Amino acid sequence: NAKTSGRNRVQLYNQSINQYNYRQVHLENQLNKALEKKEFYLLFQPIYNANTMKIIGFEALIRWKSEELGEVMPNDFIPVAEENGTIIAIGEWVLREACYFLKDLDPSMKIFVNISSKQLNHMLFLEKVEQILNESNCVADRLCFELTETAMLEDLEHSKKALYKLNKLGIHLSLDDFGTGYSSLSILNDLPIQILKIDKSFIQQMESGQKNKAIVEAIVQLSHKLSIEVVAEGVENKKQLDILLDMKLDYLQGYYFKKPSLINTFSVYKRNAFK
Ligand code: C2E
Ligand code: MG
Ligand code: MG
Ligand code: MG
Repeated sequence: NAKTSGRNRVQLYNQSINQYNYRQVHLENQLNKALEKKEFYLLFQPIYNANTMKIIGFEALIRWKSEELGEVMPNDFIPVAEENGTIIAIGEWVLREACYFLKDLDPSMKIFVNISSKQLNHMLFLEKVEQILNESNCVADRLCFELTETAMLEDLEHSKKALYKLNKLGIHLSLDDFGTGYSSLSILNDLPIQILKIDKSFIQQMESGQKNKAIVEAIVQLSHKLSIEVVAEGVENKKQLDILLDMKLDYLQGYYFKKPSLINTFSVYKRNAFK
């Protein structure tokens, strides 16, 4: 009857919540041990100069190969790491790793590193960055930090100060996933950013309508007027590429060119080269 089937539904619901919680708790437990167990590694995705089609650098993208959970993607574990604070240590590991890779790349190459708002707002972040630059002998000018607008809106005044200090060290700054948050366009003028990355959702919607194209075009033109260079993220096909070339974007990134890969698969990486 209706009563028992209702109860069953509730039971099923509780069960799936419990399974979800169990997985989350399990993931969090594993995450706490992952650094120590050396389960993280970095993949690199090249970014191309849209005029020359040459690689100008790479975005570092973290991967987690967990003994218990298998491969876990960053969208599944970065939010957990931000929640429980492990992002501080994980972010530090990413930056150090990226700086060491940089030494074995052609000196014209830059590395783009994603930085969480929790890192940016951490008291010791700047000190840590300087320490890592020193110990790895990395030239700050070859690093670009990627931050999201939503992250910076959490505490705009503090973010702004932190960004100015990073700029002063010589580190370039880019605004990631642009267009997905709800910040006003004035953020482009407020923050000391040199690069803007248009989110892949906009790039992928361009084919399906003139209006979406108009949005991307407007973002590019406004950025250029503010002396900000523009990257298109998530370029997946020739049609998108042709539209973007027409719009005079500065840099391109996406599966159409190359998926995130291990660094030693790129010829600009010299560690194993024969001398
Ligand atoms: P993101 O910084 O916006 O990175 C771009 C994401 O788009 C990456 O996903 C990349 O693999 C994917 N992508 C690149 N080209 C294409 C394409 O043509 N089509 C499609 N559909 N996707 C493409 P991934 O590696 O899964 O990373 C997801 C997000 O996780 C990143 O978004 C970033 O927010 C975060 N993340 C990754 N690594 C780190 C890290 O070291 N630290 C922090 N704090 N966050 C990270
Ligand atoms: Mg990024
Ligand atoms: Mg992005
Ligand atoms: Mg993203």
